Amino acid sequence: MNVIDNRHGKRTLRIRRVGRASLAFAMCGLFAGAACSSGGDAAQVPGTSAPGSAAAVAEFNADSAMSYVRQQLAFGPRVPGTPGWQKAGDWIVAHMQRTADQVVEQKWTHTLATKQQIPMRNIFARFKPDAAERVLYVAHWDTRPRADSDPDPLNHNKPIPGANDGASGVALLMAVADALKKVPPSMGVDLLFVDGEDWGTFGPEVDVLIGSTYFASHLPTPNYKPLFGVVWDMIGDADLNIPQEMASVEQAPEVVQRVWSKAKELGYEQYFQPAVRGYPITDDHTPLLKVGLRVIDVIDIDYDVHHAMGDDINRVSAKSLKVVGDVAMALLRP
Ligand SMILES: [Zn+2]
Repeated sequence: MNVIDNRHGKRTLRIRRVGRASLAFAMCGLFAGAACSSGGDAAQVPGTSAPGSAAAVAEFNADSAMSYVRQQLAFGPRVPGTPGWQKAGDWIVAHMQRTADQVVEQKWTHTLATKQQIPMRNIFARFKPDAAERVLYVAHWDTRPRADSDPDPLNHNKPIPGANDGASGVALLMAVADALKKVPPSMGVDLLFVDGEDWGTFGPEVDVLIGSTYFASHLPTPNYKPLFGVVWDMIGDADLNIPQEMASVEQAPEVVQRVWSKAKELGYEQYFQPAVRGYPITDDHTPLLKVGLRVIDVIDIDYDVHHAMGDDINRVSAKSLKVVGDVAMALLRP
């Protein structure tokens, strides 16, 4: 199987059609807020970045982020219930306890379609937990138990290393936590590490997005409404290209606008491309959008070793982590 066929197959697996969202709902007060708080300053001084963004660029430590990717790979695959998963989960919790103001764990048992039960663990780290204005960042920390898109069929039942698909998003959140520990945010920030994103099958979804679905039905408070949220997934690819994700554009256009404007302001338009990818992607933002949270997906799905054994450290670069990490930080420094 060649790379192109392989990619195409994965797309089919991962994607499903998403109904068109109500644009009326999208034009909520948040949209106006976004234009005022972040676009306003930069617009008055054409050609210059907002001061907050310039400082934010210096804050994200890509070398640390890269070391967090390596550490996760050293634990082994983070497949729910395995020793590597247990160790990685404990390590994320310990890191968040050192950096965040509050760490909440959600632990439960998920019953698979096969009736088998697997342990699940979401890790929810909060900065300024009492602040009303909040931002939610999400990454999945589990890795896929099966390299079912690997060109070699003998690998289809082996767990993937998950350097990009898993470890990169976690590393980004951890390095964001480091920066927020040094200089606390002005608003509340929630970092959510979800489990079980990649266990089962996509299209239709069976036993996937388990942690984000659980979080969506077990929110920290009944009225939990972050100002905006972003799922960061597969953002470490050395060959980084992140067009806008269609379901995000349809259902939370003001958040897409906010993120891509910030990337452009930082000079990262070649990576955060203004085009919309031609199909929607089902990811951890899907269940969160369903319960009304304004959460988009930032994902580089064009990855020829997606769900294959080749998703290893050689495919992740500090440069890519830096680009996306800078955007993640700048969004938190209005
Ligand atoms: Zn995956």
